Amino acid sequence: MPIHAKQRTCKGGAALLLLVLSLIAAPLTAAANKPKVTILATGGTIAGAQPDTNQPGYKAGSLSIDAILQAVPGLSDVAILKGEQVANIGSQDMNDKVWLKLARRANEVLASPDVDGVVVTHGTDTLEETAYFLNLVLDTDKPVVLVGSMRPATAISADGPMNIYNGVVVAGMPAARGRGVMAMMNDDLHYAAEITKTNTTHLNTMHSPNRGRAGTCDTGKCTLFSPPAQRHTAGSEFRLASNLTELPNVAIIYAHANMDATLINAAAKSGARGIVIAGVGDGNMTQPALDALAALAAKGVVVVRSTRVGSGIVKRNVEVDDDKLGFVASMEKNPQKARILLQLALMNTQDVKEIQRMFDEY
Ligand code: ASP
Repeated sequence: MPIHAKQRTCKGGAALLLLVLSLIAAPLTAAANKPKVTILATGGTIAGAQPDTNQPGYKAGSLSIDAILQAVPGLSDVAILKGEQVANIGSQDMNDKVWLKLARRANEVLASPDVDGVVVTHGTDTLEETAYFLNLVLDTDKPVVLVGSMRPATAISADGPMNIYNGVVVAGMPAARGRGVMAMMNDDLHYAAEITKTNTTHLNTMHSPNRGRAGTCDTGKCTLFSPPAQRHTAGSEFRLASNLTELPNVAIIYAHANMDATLINAAAKSGARGIVIAGVGDGNMTQPALDALAALAAKGVVVVRSTRVGSGIVKRNVEVDDDKLGFVASMEKNPQKARILLQLALMNTQDVKEIQRMFDEY
């Protein structure tokens, strides 16, 4: 009998030890399984604060990244997070300096084996531009997800916290690797090459009008759709030289009825190396505008025909004879993305055929 009692004590002790060990190990395993996501903050409405919660007025870029993250319930359950403030501006003020700083820091962070993905908080006004710029210059396969919000952080029913939550989940998903830069807004995931802002104030402002969304999320349960069609990130030929301080001067000029050559010539006079025309319809413009652009193209200014329409493809030689006039057709790039691609292209070449190849591939 005493022997049995001793055996029971030994068995009981071992079971207790196993229980204690498993209680210690469980959180350690859960932590080891959680993705590591770095958040690079740049400002925007997602960091905006209102003087009066019941009025629409607010100042973008008011709150720090720590304050923003604290407002997202359960965020530390889905990832191990680090936050860094790269800038704190309204994205209407986005500029080459912040872009270069952000891209270089993102490249550094993404090169670390301790990071699975990056989230960039950003204003929505130029979110599509920053997303597309990063999509072309980041040398990574890891997910990079931009998130913004239409309502400031202090608003009734602010949309930022859910966008951050979903964005962090996507940035930590192994299946999101190799898809380039994306953006998470209002439960929809968009590819950098596709996304565009379509409404001044509504929550469902972001759309991907040409090829559709990259995926969708419901409170952190995310589904990815088809991979992107264009070249990006690790597969891109564009890299930032370490001594680069600004991008080439490229102007966007908006076409309209009765357009003359005044603004086109002014852009060239002010040193533009490239001009993107936000053409009417399929990248069209008046004859005086065409003549002025053809004259500049003959002198080496690179002219890209895009469209002010908001969706569709501007192809070569449809109503405008691009071959004869020496123009580039923007394909699916809207004017603001065409400008970025042309800026990066001009750092490598002035050759119009080569630049058209880039517009076909990215
Ligand atoms: N003006 C703001 C910005 O782009 C708008 C927003 O974030 O929704 O920073």
